[in-house]
Amino acid sequence: MNSGYFAEPFRIRMVEPIRVLSEEERLARIQEAGFNVFNLRAEDVYIDLLTDSGTGAMSARQWAGMMMGDESYSGARSYYNLMDACSEVFGCRYFQPVHQGRAAEKIVMPILLGKGKISIANMHFDTTRAHVEIAGGRAIDCVVPEAEDTSSVAPFKGNMDIGTLRRLVEENGKEKVGVVIMTITNNSAGGQPVSMENIRETSKLCNGYGIPFMIDAARFAENAFFIKEREPGYQDVTIEDIVRECFSYADLFTMSAKKDAIVNIGGLIGVREDAALFEKVKALTIPSEGFISYGGLAGRDLEAMAIGLKEGIDLDYLRYRTGQPRYLGERLKEAGIPFQSPAGGHAIFVDAGRLLPHIPYNEFPAQALAIELYKEAGIRACDIGSFMLGRDPDTREQLKSKFEFTRLAIPRRVYTQSHIDVVADALAEIGKRADKLRGYRITWEPEVLRHFTARLEPIR
Ligand SMILES: *Cc1c(COP(=O)(O)O)cnc(C)c1O
Repeated sequence: MNSGYFAEPFRIRMVEPIRVLSEEERLARIQEAGFNVFNLRAEDVYIDLLTDSGTGAMSARQWAGMMMGDESYSGARSYYNLMDACSEVFGCRYFQPVHQGRAAEKIVMPILLGKGKISIANMHFDTTRAHVEIAGGRAIDCVVPEAEDTSSVAPFKGNMDIGTLRRLVEENGKEKVGVVIMTITNNSAGGQPVSMENIRETSKLCNGYGIPFMIDAARFAENAFFIKEREPGYQDVTIEDIVRECFSYADLFTMSAKKDAIVNIGGLIGVREDAALFEKVKALTIPSEGFISYGGLAGRDLEAMAIGLKEGIDLDYLRYRTGQPRYLGERLKEAGIPFQSPAGGHAIFVDAGRLLPHIPYNEFPAQALAIELYKEAGIRACDIGSFMLGRDPDTREQLKSKFEFTRLAIPRRVYTQSHIDVVADALAEIGKRADKLRGYRITWEPEVLRHFTARLEPIR
């Protein structure tokens, strides 16, 4: 143990060189990239905190499993290994592998929703919201109000606001609500966890109305760890039992395996016991993802997922995993850098709105900070704020985001504590000259999802 942190419960047996470019090179690269970090080549990045999705390091056992993958079209051994792991971890009856989380959403949303229907979630992840809308539905977020105050420290800032949920169901009529979704952890609120009590209460409310209750399970293991750590009555319950209890409350779940299952590609749909619902899932899987026993993946990917699911719920791993953002958070607090507190499970969301109050939302403070981090130390983070939000589709006015976050997402088992120190040092340096940072204006942008490809220039 070092100062309360759980050191890496693994040693490194294969390395991938990374290098930091000189300051002149970094300036040239970010300029060529139109001041958009998505346009950078990954090789020109020293520490890549763009996302924790599909960027984890697989274990020796997972790589060994890859070699044992059964590539049979139908009924492969790797499929049955995955089914066994899923039953053990989640305790549901039916599972369908798919190629990633959004593929699960694409299959499930048309079953649950249709024109005029609504989906209510603690917060919809952006692809989830997109699939709700593509299915003809409308997505409404219903997170507890404390999520919106980044400086307030609360144990479960990802929770559903149950009072508002009940009001929304009553106002719209229960027939109109096609699904209620609980995203664990609540990614868009800063990787903030949801309590077991909140999951149980939401499930009870949905049962009362006869509305399907779904979990968006991308970070189910990190959420279980926070329940064990923070929720009264769960300190002595194992992660395995917490996970099974969580999923016992849901009718179905969708999952991106690129997060807590620690694979580079993969996803999953789970159905607790409704055989008719699972028949519909299978029927939509075959034309879009492929036969049910491979679901858009190679046999080796199924094998890696089966092993990763178990590794992702290991208590020592989760202590180390959640310790990295917590450590970064504590270093940032010392340096006076504001962020969504407490630290999330997979990332630190720096509150660029508060760090750079002189840069208005339409000059993109969170994007300005992300660019500065690259210029300072070759670190890649991204804007989760007005730059990402975009324009009103009708008026073309720039929308103002509730948050101006610069997200530092930490890949699993990839970077060491020294790398985290580099990140903290860079932010502390930038913090000292925060008032000198300038905003950006867009010089070119596409119509939709502009933040991936837009080009910008600094405002002098
Ligand atoms: C990543 C993610 C998704 C989408 O999964 P992909 O594998 O990227 O398609 C959905 N919901 C949440 C909460 C996520 O974090």
